Amino acid sequence: MVFKMTELPYERDALAPYISLETIDFHYGKHYKGYVDNLNKLIVGSKYEQMPLEEIVKETAQKPEFASIFNNAAQVWNHEFFWKSMRPNGGRLPQAELKTKIEHSFGSVDKFKEEFAAAAVAQFGSGWVWLAEADGRLQILKTGNADNPLTKNVKPLLTLDVWEHAYYLDYQNRRAEFANVFLEHLINW
Ligand code: MN
Repeated sequence: MVFKMTELPYERDALAPYISLETIDFHYGKHYKGYVDNLNKLIVGSKYEQMPLEEIVKETAQKPEFASIFNNAAQVWNHEFFWKSMRPNGGRLPQAELKTKIEHSFGSVDKFKEEFAAAAVAQFGSGWVWLAEADGRLQILKTGNADNPLTKNVKPLLTLDVWEHAYYLDYQNRRAEFANVFLEHLINW
């Protein structure tokens, strides 16, 4: 066992009613655990046992022969970033410095929220939506399946998981509602 599950930075029921205990139990306890377990199995006896997670993601990206390792390593990284992207009583407004950057890049915080929610809805199938920074400017990115911005030379600042397992128990097919709840009540700025 090289990689261990990171602890959630809040209690499993702390994001309710926006994300239920049941969703966290499945999402953290089954889906995320599955990625960690698979990754550990896949890297047994390889050089990846000695490598930091972020390096594994970068090194295996775009290499079809390492697709399974990439998918599981990136999903471990993405979920750990996602847990930290939320907090109880989150949402509302970003802290001052980030707020200025958001206004500079998107016009206003409301405009940013609108574009972020639209990207969440527009991501076809499973994936992630990111607020990221490159050359002092902020941008919204969406990535499919396990893909993430680590391979794109931009710095991820926060992410939303838009795989159905992230919201289906609480919101069924209403991904837009889930994205808005994330923006208004959960974002850890
Ligand atoms: Mn997930």
